Amino acid sequence: MHEASIALGILDIIVDKCHAEGYRSIESVTLKIGRAAGIMPEALLFTFDVAKSDTPARDAKLVIDLVPLGGLCGRCERDFEVEDTHVLNCPWCGSPTFQIQKGYEMEIVDMEVH
Ligand SMILES: [Zn+2]
Repeated sequence: MHEASIALGILDIIVDKCHAEGYRSIESVTLKIGRAAGIMPEALLFTFDVAKSDTPARDAKLVIDLVPLGGLCGRCERDFEVEDTHVLNCPWCGSPTFQIQKGYEMEIVDMEVH
């Protein structure tokens, strides 16, 4: 399950940052995850909660901000967003020619520390 390695990667980053900046504990961390990023939020929350014990993030709450998959159609030139993990055609005109603009991100956007 690759959510486990993602959770460990996130912990590494936030614990390093916490130490580097002289804080003692992490209250919460907010992630932005695209729907098409191939990450299951429930699995990530679960593995994060298991992995955080014995770290300064032991009481940290993981907040996941899900980003819809979105793009720009090459034919009708309209923006679109879908609540799905993949898109094959523009939902407006059905064209298979489009540019994906969001939905694949995985980034730490915020962190609260003590
Ligand atoms: Zn279109």
